[in-house]
Amino acid sequence: MQANRLRLNDGRSIPQLGLGLWQIPAETTAEVVAQALRMGYRLLDGAAAYGNEEGLGQGLRDSGVPRDEVFVTTKVWNSDQGYDQTLRAVEASLARLGVEQVDLCLIHWPAPAQDLYVDSWRALIRLREEGRVRSIGVSNFLPAHLDRIVDQTGVVPVLNQVELNPRLQQAGLRALHDSLGIVTQSWTPLGQGRSFDAEPIRAAAQRTGRSPAQVILRWHVQLGLSVIPRSTRAAGQAENLDLFDWELTEEEMAAIATLDEGCRSGPDPAVFG
Ligand code: NAD
Repeated sequence: MQANRLRLNDGRSIPQLGLGLWQIPAETTAEVVAQALRMGYRLLDGAAAYGNEEGLGQGLRDSGVPRDEVFVTTKVWNSDQGYDQTLRAVEASLARLGVEQVDLCLIHWPAPAQDLYVDSWRALIRLREEGRVRSIGVSNFLPAHLDRIVDQTGVVPVLNQVELNPRLQQAGLRALHDSLGIVTQSWTPLGQGRSFDAEPIRAAAQRTGRSPAQVILRWHVQLGLSVIPRSTRAAGQAENLDLFDWELTEEEMAAIATLDEGCRSGPDPAVFG
């Protein structure tokens, strides 16, 4: 099975579901990535800060899946922000990955206290013009950060990758993204399992014969989001990919909407970095 694709505002497209690579040990990453690609995954969510870009690139080559069929994301870490630093950081990521270009490069956090994210964004625009990066986007950007880069450069990110799960549904940010043509991509989409036992999740799991994790991931898919769950086990990866030939009802979607608490488990982008 393969995931549906979502259109990006630069004319390209991204698989709706991918494999998250945070906290996957460097020494096992190649194996985990190759396994996922052979199973049908076509989106890999990497980052310089994850310390496993070499393994990502090795897994890509080991899998036998052609490079142009796989969508590779990387991210520029906070300590590499700034125009020249970002140019250098992306070249270093490309070298570690062993690829000529990545499909998507994100600014990992706005890190507003450094006040360098506009310069970093200008560097990504240049890297896109030079063909080192196909599409450019951001992560953990709040509305004020999005407004500022769009105002100052006229270039709208294709995607904003943010913490999003049933307990943190980000309805306001999703509406802003929709109005700007930005894809919303959910990180920590399973919310550390905290909603697995919630009644709307359990009821939908029972009706569909699916797991709580699948119900939550299907909820993301049905909201039109891109989602990047992390699983190293083949069975878990297969379960998380099996989302595209069944549906939640409108009532089930509405019931899951009631679980929103607006609470982050990760850092606050207004102050982090
Ligand atoms: P996740 O929501 O994907 O959850 C991962 C945990 O859930 C793991 O413990 C895994 O074993 C378990 N799990 C996975 N599939 C399961 C299943 N079917 N049933 C039961 N348990 C299951 O959390 P995550 O890794 O924090 O987030 C996903 C990805 O998002 C990361 O790997 C990374 O690529 C990205 N991310 C980005 C940022 C950012 O700042 N941009 C921050 C955090 C994560």
